[in-house]
Amino acid sequence: MKIIKQKQQLMCITMPRFFPINAYLILEDSFCTLIDCSKKGMGAKLIQAIQSTNLPLKHIILTHAHSDHIGDVALIKKAFPQAQVMISATEMKQLQAGTKGLTPLPLQPDILLNENDRVGALLVKETPGHTLGSISLIDTRNQHAFVGDLIQTAGGAAIAGDKRWLFPFPAYATMDQKLAIQSFKQLVTEPITAFYSGHGQALLGNQNETLEKMIARAEKK
Ligand SMILES: [Zn+2]
Repeated sequence: MKIIKQKQQLMCITMPRFFPINAYLILEDSFCTLIDCSKKGMGAKLIQAIQSTNLPLKHIILTHAHSDHIGDVALIKKAFPQAQVMISATEMKQLQAGTKGLTPLPLQPDILLNENDRVGALLVKETPGHTLGSISLIDTRNQHAFVGDLIQTAGGAAIAGDKRWLFPFPAYATMDQKLAIQSFKQLVTEPITAFYSGHGQALLGNQNETLEKMIARAEKK
C-alpha cells in the first residue's frame, strides 16, 4: 500500500499497480475518519495506517456499497469498536430492497447519512449515479472533495459510466450515467480545490477545462 501524506489527510492507495483503489484518512485535531475500506484483504494494512496517525478512529464512511469500497469494514470496526460506520440512507434502502449490483454490508451501519449532514469537518453531498445512494464528502477546511466512484482518474479522468479502456471497471459497475453527470455538474458548482476518487490520482479543482472536457465526453455517449 502506498500512502500519500498531506497535512489534513492520508491517501491510502492499495494495489497501486494492478487495480488501484483509494481509501482516505481524514485527520482532525482529536480524531480521524476513514472514507472507504478498499477491498477484502486490505484491512490489516488500513488498520496499520489508522494506528500510524495516533488519533482515535471515530467514523468509517462508505461512499457506496461496492466490494472494493466496503472491503474489510467489519475487521476494521472490530479493531476500533468505538468507530461509527456510516453509509447514505438511500444506499441502505437500495441494499434492503436487494438492488442488483450492490454488495451487501457485513455489518449493520451505526448512522445513515443524508444531504448536508456533517461528520466532523466533512459535509455530506448526495451524488447519485454510479450507485443510486452514492455520496461525496467535502472537507470544509480545505474544500477537498472525496467522491467515491462518481469520477475516476485511473485510465483517464472520467465521470462514472464513461468507459476508459485502461481501467473500465467503475464504468461497468455504474447504474445511471445520466444521473452521475448531473451529480458531477452539481458538485462542481461548489468551490472544490481537489477531487479525490476511488480509483486514480487527485484531480485539481481549478482545472475548469479538464472538468468541462469530462462533462462533454460523458454527455456525448
Ligand atoms: Zn463502485
